[in-house]
Amino acid sequence: MEQLLKKYFGFEEFRPMQLEIIKNVLQKKDSLVLMPTGGGKSLCYQIPALKFEGLTIVISPLISLMKDQVDNLKANGINAEYINSTLSFGEIENIKKRIQEKEVKILYIAPERFALEEFKIFLTTLQISLIAIDEAHCISEWGHDFRKDYRNLKFLKILFPNVPIIALTATATLKVRKDILKQLSLINPQIFISSFNRENLKLIVMRKKNTFNKILSLVKKHKNESAIIYCFSRKDTEKIAQRLKKNGFEALPYHAGLSNNIRKQNQELFTKDKVNIIVATIAFGMGIDKPDVRLIIHHTFSKSIEGYYQEIGRAGRDGISSDCVLFYSKGDKRKHEFFLDQIQEDIIRSSALDKLNKMMIYCENTSCRRKDILGYFGESFLENNCNGCDICLNLPEIKGDVEDKSLIYEEVKENINYDSILFEKLRTLRKQIADERNFPPFIIFGDVSLREMSLYFPKNRDEFLRINGVGQQKLNDFGESFLKVINDYVRENNIVLEKILGRSQKKRARHLSRNYQKTKEMILKKLSIEEIAKFQELKERRIIYHIEKLIEGGETIDINYLIPSKEKFDIIKSAFEKIGVERLAPIYNYFDEKYSYEEIRLVRMIMMSKKDAIKNNMKTNYHERLEQIKEKYSNAYEPWEEDEDNKLKSLYLENISIDEIAQILKRQPSAIRSRLRKQELN
Ligand SMILES: [Zn+2]
Repeated sequence: MEQLLKKYFGFEEFRPMQLEIIKNVLQKKDSLVLMPTGGGKSLCYQIPALKFEGLTIVISPLISLMKDQVDNLKANGINAEYINSTLSFGEIENIKKRIQEKEVKILYIAPERFALEEFKIFLTTLQISLIAIDEAHCISEWGHDFRKDYRNLKFLKILFPNVPIIALTATATLKVRKDILKQLSLINPQIFISSFNRENLKLIVMRKKNTFNKILSLVKKHKNESAIIYCFSRKDTEKIAQRLKKNGFEALPYHAGLSNNIRKQNQELFTKDKVNIIVATIAFGMGIDKPDVRLIIHHTFSKSIEGYYQEIGRAGRDGISSDCVLFYSKGDKRKHEFFLDQIQEDIIRSSALDKLNKMMIYCENTSCRRKDILGYFGESFLENNCNGCDICLNLPEIKGDVEDKSLIYEEVKENINYDSILFEKLRTLRKQIADERNFPPFIIFGDVSLREMSLYFPKNRDEFLRINGVGQQKLNDFGESFLKVINDYVRENNIVLEKILGRSQKKRARHLSRNYQKTKEMILKKLSIEEIAKFQELKERRIIYHIEKLIEGGETIDINYLIPSKEKFDIIKSAFEKIGVERLAPIYNYFDEKYSYEEIRLVRMIMMSKKDAIKNNMKTNYHERLEQIKEKYSNAYEPWEEDEDNKLKSLYLENISIDEIAQILKRQPSAIRSRLRKQELN
């Protein structure tokens, strides 16, 4: 299986849960998969599709997405096709013929197709081995984007009783989950729920004041990177796009008032990296699967947490750190209410208003954002500090002064030590190839792959294949041109290469070369940085970089002896705590260049290595702790059921103490308190 993964997708390892799910599918069992966007859902049916003999059908709600999905698979050397209304009759007939001749492994279709008798008959003549239903929550009326055509999928089990179904979604509350299972009549389905936490997303709420200047600071910070700004009205999108343009940024609006052609064009310019910023109503984004969106701004808050989480789910799908900034003002409530009040059915209207209310509570809360959102989806987040929200990071409001350089939560960019000049060169090459083929650049290679290339400088085909995201097909198609740019760059800049080791070594040890080993040995002998650098004929900076990588790789080396004095350490440490650990420059400036970058970097390394140790310790103890809690409160961490909520409410209203309620409901007192807060009782 791992071979398929490397050959076709260029990855060395599966992500959490993927293998379990794939195994279940290969046993021809039904599955329901709940996984956040960016968690690697599609591999869960694409790998089985390659293993199975016949055809895999993927039902996907959006025609606009299908082309990219199929292009992506083709670029990886997989025979995939799609059939939808954008194709001509002749094209469809052609694809059908190729399917009958077993030349196609994966076929994407929209749910509307199932309304066509003729198409259903065509399908029944084929050997179908798997049916995957993407965005499965669309089948439920309780979901926030119910689609009528998804109801057609009810007939799948009748038409294909022996074909396993895998339903996948990135958002589903318990109610929706039950509805999906019921509507699709899945047989003994295995349900896979992975954590909905998206560690790489920073969740930030800001006051909606001096907003445009704040937006300017944010897009400046993410210069040359893709950003989406969500607005409430068409007018807002036009206005903000205009103002951004006036300030020298390329930005395009996107809303339902524009003609189909313009919308399509703007979207394409965005996915193809020809324009970085899209200012849109929430209609935008359903139809894109761009993995490298680094910033999502909500100019007006969303009308539900589900909606918000789905919208920000479009950021950082490749796992690279990305910012999600929401501007909150109580006054915006009226805008939403105006529309919600027009809903005819009482139940639906009050449920919508309730969701709006919960969204506002989220914005006004002063507790960890991540904990709040995950709690909303029934997941407990156990760590005290998520290190990725405005509350936990203790972020001050950004001033929105255009010249203000102190965007405190500046990216960890310089921490990731890839060569940014080479990265830009590779980006240019990627764009050039993509333009020639009329593909979005990310289909050629993702940012993750380019960053790895700029970090490890692969020099031949063999080494190039070891880069994450490089499979056999991409090696053949693009290897040569990328290797040329890399090798030229290495030569022009006299970069001394450290050898990349074979793939069999563990991921972390993978790139540790002899130089690193030497550094490690000398650290163990407690030599100074200066001595090590001299001995290896390298810059001190380089040695510190080695040490950082060694620690990241999990090596246990004691570097405490490198700190000149405890006094100095404490002084620099407290500055980090005050200003943030992301960047070195502000610390350097803070002390008026009194301490060298090397010293500052060392202090940060020691701080980080200690924190990591605590974190690891927490992880190992986690299961143990969970067991202990479960022993005392057997319902702890189970999702809340509706009748349990009712019971909670009545107990509370009878003035029963929290501790007693905790005993009765077999949940932790803290869980009872937070649930009551959610119910707005406490
Ligand atoms: Zn937090």
